[in-house]
Amino acid sequence: MTTFETSLQWHNRAQRIIPGGVSSPVRAFQSVGGTPRYFVKGEGSKIWDVDGNEYVDLVGSWGPMIVGHAHPHVVSRVKSAMEKSSSFGAPGPGEVLLAEEIAARVPACERVRFVSSGTEAVMTAVRLARAATGRNLIVKFAGCYHGHSDSLLVQSGSGIATLGLPNSPGVTQGQTQDTIVVPFNDVEAMNRLFAERGSEIAAVITEATPANMGVVPPSPGFNKFLSDITKKNGALFILDEVMTGFRISHGGWWGKFGLEEAWTPDLFTFGKVIGGGMPLAAVGGSASVMELLAPSGSVYQAGTLSGNPVATTAGLATLELCDSELYLSLDSRAREVGSAISNALTAADVEHSFQQAGNLFSFFFTSQNVSNFDDAKKQDTSAFAVFFHSLLEQGISVPPSAFEAWFVSGALTDDDVDKIAKAASVAAQQVKLR
Ligand code: PMP
Repeated sequence: MTTFETSLQWHNRAQRIIPGGVSSPVRAFQSVGGTPRYFVKGEGSKIWDVDGNEYVDLVGSWGPMIVGHAHPHVVSRVKSAMEKSSSFGAPGPGEVLLAEEIAARVPACERVRFVSSGTEAVMTAVRLARAATGRNLIVKFAGCYHGHSDSLLVQSGSGIATLGLPNSPGVTQGQTQDTIVVPFNDVEAMNRLFAERGSEIAAVITEATPANMGVVPPSPGFNKFLSDITKKNGALFILDEVMTGFRISHGGWWGKFGLEEAWTPDLFTFGKVIGGGMPLAAVGGSASVMELLAPSGSVYQAGTLSGNPVATTAGLATLELCDSELYLSLDSRAREVGSAISNALTAADVEHSFQQAGNLFSFFFTSQNVSNFDDAKKQDTSAFAVFFHSLLEQGISVPPSAFEAWFVSGALTDDDVDKIAKAASVAAQQVKLR
């Protein structure tokens, strides 16, 4: 048995001063039970908790740690940026360089504006879409998570799904009355909605691939369909690439599938990878829409720490390491890790659906393929909890929720994959025997 006495002490102390002991709900282990580990060190593919236990990390801070922890290139660049001051609240070269890098990877981003979180990036995209179209309605999909802004906290994924909350108290009806929720992958429902209210719709927003209800890939042609139907009706198509941006390929989800299927959204949101683990996110799109932002236009948006020099340095240093070789390695690691786990579950006769979208993947403990939020909610989350704790006990850290994607990094080694496979066999047996 590993001991996690010091984590427990910290968590008891945390709960006396921080609600639930955490700064973001899923971290509290509420749906899987037990004590969250307090991590204090990371290097490459490994992380260590306050008790000195070592784990192979398949969370990667929920996406940003794509090149592994404390990568020497990122660390040295951030150190030298930090030595020159952590913030000026004034323009700086770092944000220009990072914006240029994003535009070089995703040319439809003719303009880029930086913010500090994915939540803010999406808030800004929605505000822009409403201003650009003069319309109010926003269409989102059930089980997609776009951050915790009021108008999008409706039938949301991530922590809201993990905790089984329908919506959130504190969000008024007025704040969500212009949000319409549709089942994901449902072309008919979208056609019906546009036939009835097409002229009122400012934008459709989707995760490039939903990964906050577990991984639910778009059915072939679904994103292209969204791009076409919005265009035809004078609405904007917002592609939320906060999770997928520069993780799935050199140009994100769009860079792989948008190019292949010939569709382009009007607005993109990015986060996670572009900050290299620092608080940084962005909204990007055509010059004509983006120039509506103040001070060029009158759509207001601002931030004390927006475009922060240390965060933009971390992001740029991370993107410098995100070359075609890295994406090949992420794809093959995701396949290796995902299939090793799926094989272990199959060998133990545990019903599951192993779902992949690019190099993101997750496991639903159900025999059915999951194509929307209703399907996702049918999984056996108690089986997931047993699987999760067995893996954790064996030194493999995976997301503490059945409704989240798993993340590989470029730092994973063959030994890590072997360790994951062995641990998964034991964990699968424990699920079977429970
Ligand atoms: N959009 C998507 C697709 C996300 O996955 C997330 C966070 N997981 C967000 C938006 C919100 O980002 P943040 O947590 O940085 O506010």
